[in-house]
Amino acid sequence: MKKIQKIRGAHEINPSESQTWSYLTKKITEIFESFSYQEIRLPIIESTSLFQRSVGEGTDIVNKEMFTFESKSGKSLSLRPEGTAGCLRASIEMGLTDQGPIRLFYHGPMYRYERPQKGRNREFYQLSAEAYGFDGVNIDSEMIYMSYKIFSFLDLKDYYLEINSLGSKETQQNFSKAIKDYLIPIKDKLDPDSQARLNSNTLRILDSKNPETQKILKNGPKIFEFLSQKSIEDFDLLRSNLDEMKIPYKVNNNLVRGLDYYNDVVYEWKSKALGSQNTFCAGGRYDSLSKNLGGRDIPAAGFSIGLDRLIISLSDQDTSKAKKRLIVIILEDNLLHAGLEIAETIRNNLEEIVVRFDGVKSNLKSQLKKAIKENYDFAIIIGNEEINKGVYSFKNLKKDDNQLSLTKSEVIKSISGVIENE
Ligand code: ATP
Ligand code: MG
Repeated sequence: MKKIQKIRGAHEINPSESQTWSYLTKKITEIFESFSYQEIRLPIIESTSLFQRSVGEGTDIVNKEMFTFESKSGKSLSLRPEGTAGCLRASIEMGLTDQGPIRLFYHGPMYRYERPQKGRNREFYQLSAEAYGFDGVNIDSEMIYMSYKIFSFLDLKDYYLEINSLGSKETQQNFSKAIKDYLIPIKDKLDPDSQARLNSNTLRILDSKNPETQKILKNGPKIFEFLSQKSIEDFDLLRSNLDEMKIPYKVNNNLVRGLDYYNDVVYEWKSKALGSQNTFCAGGRYDSLSKNLGGRDIPAAGFSIGLDRLIISLSDQDTSKAKKRLIVIILEDNLLHAGLEIAETIRNNLEEIVVRFDGVKSNLKSQLKKAIKENYDFAIIIGNEEINKGVYSFKNLKKDDNQLSLTKSEVIKSISGVIENE
């Protein structure tokens, strides 16, 4: 019979990689929590209108990248292409935005109908932080600092931060008009994507990777020429905060986001290891979104880390930070209970360990060979001789040590010694 295959662009993680995914999720969320961000759990399906109203009708995401379908009652639903809109929708609905400033985080899969390639899938994983009700750029500084702390901790390859200010919605409208006036007479020289964006999403033209388009843009109007005094002051304050916190950054005046809700501060973390999909974290302010979704007028800011891309940009992809693994081997069938007992004692006394016991008598040589191949760290071997003496044979499989005869408490001491030394 023909095999059923995975849907194109869907996301699945092999057991050999899942430890890295869990480890990163745990570390990143621990850092979020240490800055007093609280976890919120959100649905994957939302009303299509949520994204039309927030991300924007003219954006690529809403225009052509959504997985949209009709519910049985004829309502238009979509798999979430991003989390910011759903998080604010839920926070308004739960009344969280009525209780003063609040910091939240969430993580999970997002869905966009894109052409799958390195660092771009139709189902991908994001970890995001959002903050509501904080005025001024100090919250943006905190968020950038928090992401910086995460990425420095993780030892990423060649990464850097780019920042920009998009100004207020009014600035964006004035600038869009000016750039349109500048580009329309020379429309034919633009790449086809940028031509199409002239009428739908003019700002996004700045993002074009086409060298010819970029050359044309160099001589055109710049968004910073349209910023209000307030936006300039905010941006300057953000820059001096980043200097103060010793976070390196570049100002990229062409940095725009593919979502309509942003204003003023926007930023992206990029890595040279990623090729053309080079942004692995992106964020900014979105002060008008709450009102747009029918909520109160409150300031908001957030960022999202794309975990798929973050993993590609890790310098050290090995999972040595993963838990140690131990196998218990019995040489006779009558030793089942002795095996179960030592396995359970180790599990109960050491947190950072995985213990495997298959419960059947096995051939020692082939079993050890297999355990080494499967990357086990330790083996405990129990034969009748050991049981009579009240000891266990213990082997550190990552070293050429001889087999040691140890008591139960010595076994635990040896393993915790190895764990602590790493
Ligand atoms: P891009 O310009 O690369 O398409 P974007 O502006 O559409 O990115 P955002 O909506 O800002 O991306 O999403 C934040 C982060 O989520 C990105 O920086 C990236 O790491 C990740 N991301 C977005 N789309 C995908 C995808 N299709 N596959 C994997 N990761 C993605
Ligand atoms: Mg995109």
